[in-house]
Amino acid sequence: MWSFVSTWPFSRQTAEIGAEVLKNGGKAMDAVIEGIHRVESDPNVDCVGKGGFLNEKGELALDAAVMDGDTLKTGAVCAVRGFENPVDIARALMDNTRHSILVGTGAEEFARKMGIPESAMEDLITETARENWRQAAGIGHDTIGAIALDENGSMAVATSTSGANMKLCGRVGDSPIIGSGFYVESGVGGACATGWGEDIMRTCCSYRCVSLMADGMSPAEAVAKVVRTAHETIVRHGGRPDCIALVCMNAKGECAAACNHREFSYVYVWEGMNAPLVIEKEPVIDKDAGDKFIDGVVGYER
Ligand code: ASP
Repeated sequence: MWSFVSTWPFSRQTAEIGAEVLKNGGKAMDAVIEGIHRVESDPNVDCVGKGGFLNEKGELALDAAVMDGDTLKTGAVCAVRGFENPVDIARALMDNTRHSILVGTGAEEFARKMGIPESAMEDLITETARENWRQAAGIGHDTIGAIALDENGSMAVATSTSGANMKLCGRVGDSPIIGSGFYVESGVGGACATGWGEDIMRTCCSYRCVSLMADGMSPAEAVAKVVRTAHETIVRHGGRPDCIALVCMNAKGECAAACNHREFSYVYVWEGMNAPLVIEKEPVIDKDAGDKFIDGVVGYER
């Protein structure tokens, strides 16, 4: 039984590609990479790859990561400039070296050595991104994260993001950080996050979620507990949590998600479905409504 889940409605195209790979007996790793690659190259998605949000200097600096649930090998790149598809660099790092994370110019040099196509920075920046930057408009940010289970029981996860609009130069969020933005172990499950990276990192959301599933929790129980605990822990220590959202999948392909705000939705497709389903998520705890715990919203999406 194959299964695929990814963050935000713009990942519908990711899920369609992932489903095609898995339906044809392809590998979980290829499903997440090919699906995310497409979104990175789509200039209309404003938070990933080409067309993504710019940093304070008006540069596009991208983060991405992959993890193979069979081997626990990971590859991640941070603040990469001049490449449309950082997820390909992350995969090349995982496949060809013993390293896990490369940053900035080191990641760019490695990508060139691997023959990954380079682009002029200006070709990767859309008019909308430039306008958001000129107006320093809002604090836009989102991440594409995808988890797949293939017919052989192998699991994989990948993430890609431009991070927060107007971020400081060199800022890295949770998305390329193992255990925070993503984690997967075949036979147990996987998780990936989207939201304010600083809050997701300080609560190590993805590893915690997989670890709770390893201890026997269902995806819905695990993901709800992690998001609620992350939020409450930050509050207990005097902080004001920003957006946190997490999706997860267990080794049976059952998925669930949880968030602490009202805007999160995700895409889910599994064997036997004709098309991916976009699922809107109610928060388990609402950061905009007095941190109220909202009971009764957990439950398998399948
Ligand atoms: N987590 C990403 C970051 O902080 C952004 C997001 O997913 O909203 O870079």
